[in-house]
Amino acid sequence: MKHIAILGSTGSIGTQTLNVVRRHKELFEIEVLVAGSNADLLIEQAREFKPNVVVIADKSKYGIVNEALKESDVKVFAGIESACEAVVMESVDIVVAAIVGFAGLRPTMEAVRAGKVVALANKETMVVAGDLVTREARTNNSAILPVDSEHSAIFQTLQGEIGNRIDKILLTASGGPFFGRKREELEHVTLEAALKHPNWSMGRKVTIDSSSLMNKGLEVIEAKWLFGVDAKQIEVVVHPQSIVHSMVQFEDGSIKAQLGTPTMETPIQYALSYPRRIESHLPRFSFWEHPELTFARPDTDTFRCLPLAYEAIERGGNIPCVMNAANEVAVQKFIEGTLPFLGIADFVNDAMSKASYIAKPTLEELIECDISTKKRIQ
Ligand code: NDP
Repeated sequence: MKHIAILGSTGSIGTQTLNVVRRHKELFEIEVLVAGSNADLLIEQAREFKPNVVVIADKSKYGIVNEALKESDVKVFAGIESACEAVVMESVDIVVAAIVGFAGLRPTMEAVRAGKVVALANKETMVVAGDLVTREARTNNSAILPVDSEHSAIFQTLQGEIGNRIDKILLTASGGPFFGRKREELEHVTLEAALKHPNWSMGRKVTIDSSSLMNKGLEVIEAKWLFGVDAKQIEVVVHPQSIVHSMVQFEDGSIKAQLGTPTMETPIQYALSYPRRIESHLPRFSFWEHPELTFARPDTDTFRCLPLAYEAIERGGNIPCVMNAANEVAVQKFIEGTLPFLGIADFVNDAMSKASYIAKPTLEELIECDISTKKRIQ
């Protein structure tokens, strides 16, 4: 039995993780659930999964959650500090890091420092602090298992390849809802259009990041840290069907790929059951129903967030943190209707060009950099 803590249990990844747990009650038990502010869903999840601890990050919702669960054995806490304390409890085996954005960094870092197995969905953690997180993971013997479908695919193709040199990683991208469109066609796109992802149903922020290709940029940085390769060895390949989840080319020229229908429950389940594979009822991919798998080069003149991410990782230091902070603000402004879609890349570029550089930032310096960048550009 593996005991699981979910950071972000009320989100898209969090609820899909609970689907996996629900189907495999003989293998997994929920120990901790952490939500942002969705008290109703957290209460419902707590009643169903009976964890030891629940945390609601939004302290103003503590009373509601506590009152609703007062007859149960579930312990209720509030605030992100409580989440940091809950994930390091001895009774926790695996921490699913599925809070969205920079907010996920601190509790994820605590889990890594405590030597937990971390099933990582929160890519922003690796973008902002990949160097620190991977060093802490090595020091504290914490295994970081990717949940992002592309990184899970790479991880799966690397099984049995210890010592074999990676030539390059071929990171697939669906291209999002605006694949094939040019800049002039994107000037007036709406929030609704950006939220209509052709293949995946995800939280709002990652869906908008997918439409701008910033998501792929964040994933390039995540892959660099997770697999210890140079960003130049990571090539983005647009694959609109999202069946080939990513590939690795080795030094002999062989390419290994992982394929499957686009559902996050497969990579979530693999991270939870690793190193075993366990049974799943999810739909199987059929080559007869989808005989055409196509591939294309990304249009980096139109989708400028992708080259910005390569620039950020090339410059290194705190620049990926600045890029991430600026992107979080830009996405929020786009959601609120105060920044046009094409303005996202300009906004991020501007913040990166005006950033003061820190070559080897500490965790505290990264937290400060995130706060000060967001304040400067609001
Ligand atoms: P959602 O927006 O659906 O969910 C986000 C979760 O984070 C919710 O549980 C939310 O709580 C919680 N949360 C938000 N802010 C805070 C905070 N300040 N403190 C504590 N909890 C907070 O996002 P997704 O599930 O889509 O994405 C989560 C992460 O996984 C992202 O980093 C994303 O890039 C990554 N990812 C997602 C994929 C997907 O298919 N969805 C695929 C691959 C990666 P509440 O709702 O209660 O406020």
